[in-house]
Amino acid sequence: GGFTIGLSLDHRRLVAVLVDLAGERRAEVEIATAAPTPAAALPLMADAVARLRRAGRVEGARILGAGVVMPTLFEAGSPVSFGPTSLPAWDGFPLTERLSALLEMPVLVENDATAAAVGERLYGAGRDLRDFVYVYFGVGLGAGIITGGQPHRGAGGRAGELGHMVVVPGGRPCLCGNHGCLERYVSLAAAHAAVAGPDADASDIDPARLEAAFLAGEPTLDAWLSDAAGHFRAALANIENLLDPETVILGGLLPPAMRRTFLARLEPLPPSVAARPGRAMPRLIEAGLGPETPALGAAALPLFHRLAPRLAT
Ligand code: BGC
Ligand code: ZN
Repeated sequence: GGFTIGLSLDHRRLVAVLVDLAGERRAEVEIATAAPTPAAALPLMADAVARLRRAGRVEGARILGAGVVMPTLFEAGSPVSFGPTSLPAWDGFPLTERLSALLEMPVLVENDATAAAVGERLYGAGRDLRDFVYVYFGVGLGAGIITGGQPHRGAGGRAGELGHMVVVPGGRPCLCGNHGCLERYVSLAAAHAAVAGPDADASDIDPARLEAAFLAGEPTLDAWLSDAAGHFRAALANIENLLDPETVILGGLLPPAMRRTFLARLEPLPPSVAARPGRAMPRLIEAGLGPETPALGAAALPLFHRLAPRLAT
């Protein structure tokens, strides 16, 4: 026996899951938080682990390790998060070191979108797919690339930074230092900026409030959705031309009513060389899982050497 834990932290919550070695989900905990700093989040993580043990009735059991994912980049094999991130307090924080000391178990880290792609591959809409791109529509915009059933991490563990693909040369300034990155136009941060102005604070982003404003007919959000859909249509063609995936899965935090409008405004999908006629899969599908997706991928991290052969088949 044995278990692993997945922790996913973003601007508004910590989601934690407990899975057994067969990959079965045993317990799930969600804790609300707001733009958490390391000092605020580490105790929440320890609390989540204790609650998972109780909820899963595995108080004394062996936990092999924990995977932690966040909306930031981690250098492959390095324990330190570094930007560009919309949670700047984490930049340079030695996460694996501090958290493994606190939880008394090995800790592995991963980017949220890459982990979510693994979560969809194991449990969701990607279960029968070997080559897909999972787009995580969060505060920023990220992607996880699954190729041959496995996550593609790149030379430094930084592949899939879809949100920082330049779509408007010389365009809006981005946290990464560049200009005109896709996530300055397509993300919850972009939606928030459309309403609250370009200097709006990312820690104020609240998907539920955005959705309420959208449903109340906020014209800037309606205009933003059209603009975002235009940029995303172009990005879809770029993704397909570069990677020829079976499908693109759209997941993340865009609230349902806004997501429906966004999807409708993507139509007709742009032509791409990779979109061959008679292709069996739909080109763009919605994720099969909810906010627990990145945490599920995170829980797979301590087992990756065992899971990899299963993912490849
Ligand atoms: C970050 C990515 C992350 C994405 C979605 C972007 O701002 O650069 O690493 O995957 O947001 O959370
Ligand atoms: Zn950028």
